[in-house]
Parts: sequence; structure tokens; C-alpha cells
Amino acid sequence: MPNIYDAINQFNLDLSARESQQFAEMTKRWAQMEGRLSSYIQQHADAIATRRDAGLAVGETALTRLETWNRLEAQIVAESAQYQRYAQQVISAEQQIYGETGIAAAQSAIRAEVGAGVAFGRLNPQAVNNMVGIAGDGSPLFDVLKKRAIAPDAVAGLQDALIEAVTLGYSPRKTAKMMADGLAQGLTKALTIARTEQIRAYRTSSLMQYQESGIVTKYQRHAAPSERTCLACIALDGKIYDVNEFASHPNCRCFMTPVIDGVNNPARSTQSWLERQNDATQKKILGGHYDAYKNGTPLADMVKIVDDKTWGATIKIVPLKELTK
Ligand SMILES: [Zn+2]
Repeated sequence: MPNIYDAINQFNLDLSARESQQFAEMTKRWAQMEGRLSSYIQQHADAIATRRDAGLAVGETALTRLETWNRLEAQIVAESAQYQRYAQQVISAEQQIYGETGIAAAQSAIRAEVGAGVAFGRLNPQAVNNMVGIAGDGSPLFDVLKKRAIAPDAVAGLQDALIEAVTLGYSPRKTAKMMADGLAQGLTKALTIARTEQIRAYRTSSLMQYQESGIVTKYQRHAAPSERTCLACIALDGKIYDVNEFASHPNCRCFMTPVIDGVNNPARSTQSWLERQNDATQKKILGGHYDAYKNGTPLADMVKIVDDKTWGATIKIVPLKELTK
């Protein structure tokens, strides 16, 4: 019988390998899009240089009145729309797999706790179908990608880079390079949405399986012990919740173990782990909250749950100034 944490960890490892592959593919597609935009970007960078050489204004307003900007922007909007359709398909397909994996992981965790011989209610993998293509706020993924993400972020990123390059007097070539880098903000956003909405499908289906089991009463929340783990997640590590709610934040990698009457899982605490770390690691995780932590402020005081319009129930670090009140 595998240890409960090993049982769950294997699923997490498999999904993170899947995610690496998926993100590589999404990044490759983005680079192809960038390639198709590159001549428009270069033309705009050249037009600015020509303007500047002629002694004309190259402030933000002047730059976005140029014909080359209009063509570039129109092209970005068209390309982003295409990328969004692609991303929506990929993320929906992954949500299906993450959802089925969530059910399998929950079943495996329950078996690890009660043994293979104990019967419990099993959820049909088809139960995940209705969460595929849906985001955390209940809207279709495509709307989310449009609202939260790609085109506005890509245009804003590119524009910021453009202004900076022009202010610093960079060559058209260097300006074009910076613009392409700025454009990549759209990709960053797409990847965040992918990770967040896919893990959500995984957790939601695990919770559904807990409910279906008839023997899981609650779940325990766990944060990964790593210096990349956010303080809020560590603060909630070990807490017990009802099987119908999970507050997270974008890119959150916390996981759950089922709570079953009469079963005691091996102790595990990321908070004790944090206590054992050296000052450098503690500072990295706690940031500005390090002194408060050292002075005895409980971690529980440093986290709050807010209802975020975009991401749903979201955990947040309590700002230092609210903490010291
Ligand atoms: Zn987390």
C-alpha cells in the first residue's frame, strides 16, 4: 500500500510533465505568431526612426497615429484571436484529462487510506464533461482568454516596450526586438490561465469524487515545501475544509488529502518545514513579513480569502500595514 502522499505525488508529477510539454507547444505557437508579426513590428520601428531622424515628435501619441501602428495593431488583434481559439482548444482538452486525473487521484488517495478492500462510491469519468471549456467564474474559457488576456496584454506589453525603446533612443532593430519581447506578456497570461483553469478542473473533480465516496467527510489542504511556494499557501497548509470549496490563487499548486473518520494520515507540515529553513530561505518566502514572523506573528494572521471577480475564492497575503494595525 503506497503512502498517501506518494500516491498523490505520482499524479502531480505526471501532470507537471504533461504541463511542460503543453507549455512548450503553446510557446512554440506563440513564436510562430511573433514571426508572422515581425515584419509589421520592424516597419513600425523603421517608421519611428525615420520620423525621429526628420526631427518630428516621437512621443506616445505620435507613435500610435502612424499608419504602421494601425497595421501592426490590426494584425496583433487578428493573430491573437486565432491564438485564443487555439489556446481554448488546448486548454479544454487538458481540462478533460485533468478532470479525469482528479477523479483517479482521489480514488487512489482514498484507497491508500482505507485499503483496497473497502468499498466506496465511484464517480464516472464522464462527470467532468460539464466543466470542460469553462473557467472559474463560470464563463466560457474563450471569453476569459479575450477579457483577461491575450490581445490587450500583448498590445500593452508591446506598446510599453516601444515607448521605452524610443525614449532610450534605441536603433530600429533593437526597438523591434524589445517590442517582440513586450508582446510575450500575452503568452505569459495565456499560460497562467491554462495552469490555473486546468488545476481547477483537477481539484474540482477530486472534490466531486470525495463527495461521491460517501466516506470522505472533509479534506486537508497541503502546500508544497519549496522556496517558490507562496506565504499564503504555507499559512493555510494543514487546514481542514468542507469538500465543496477550495480557495486558491493563479498558479497555486496546493494539493488535498481526503479526511476519513477513523483514519490518521502520517503527519506532514510545511509550516514546520519553514521553521527549519535558514534565514535566507525564510526571507525569500516571507519577504517583507519576515520580521513579523520572527517576532511571533502567527502565519494564520498573514493570509486572507477574498472573492475575486475573475478567479473566484482567492487567497491573498495580508499586506504588512494591515498586519501591524
Ligand atoms: Zn497554493
